[in-house]
Amino acid sequence: EYVKVLRKLSFPKIKNFLMNKILKILFCLLFLQSCSQTQKPKSMENQTVKNPYYSRTDKTKLNVSNAEWKKILPTDLYYVAREADTERPFTGKYNDFDEIGEYYCAVCGNHLFRSSSKFASTCGWPSFFEADKDGVSYKRDSSHGMERIEVLCKRCDSHLGHVFNDGPEPTGMRYCMNSVSLDFQRDSEKK
Ligand code: FE
Repeated sequence: EYVKVLRKLSFPKIKNFLMNKILKILFCLLFLQSCSQTQKPKSMENQTVKNPYYSRTDKTKLNVSNAEWKKILPTDLYYVAREADTERPFTGKYNDFDEIGEYYCAVCGNHLFRSSSKFASTCGWPSFFEADKDGVSYKRDSSHGMERIEVLCKRCDSHLGHVFNDGPEPTGMRYCMNSVSLDFQRDSEKK
């Protein structure tokens, strides 16, 4: 009889105690998980090997072989930047994108464009009317039965896209770029 009474009294207390413990452990796990997620570096997600040539400040000209770039760069970037491939229109991450900041070469980190020179083009690739004159160089391109002017990164000689003379004022130029060749940094994220 006595045991029965004791059971009735203590059972809810034990239940509450256990529930509290379980809730506390769950909260700890959730907190730890959210911490580890925010600490994962975003820019390295797609990269297998660290790129030792990437710098936003070093302007030294690079002379790196395609064999070496192939080991360093993500596959899609390698074929566009080093073998002048073109990404499919309307697929690039910066095609429909109008945030305020700076665009850098995705291969070497060299500064290429300011967002204020980007315009809404209907061609399917991110387009700019003006480039950083210290950032890009030009080369005549007669491939694919067309006469075009190829735009390259001045520091690493990577292919970026082409420039055409059907752009808007004030320059009348249209730098038609591959999104994969560009790295973007928002002004609000600058240190
Ligand atoms: Fe570059």
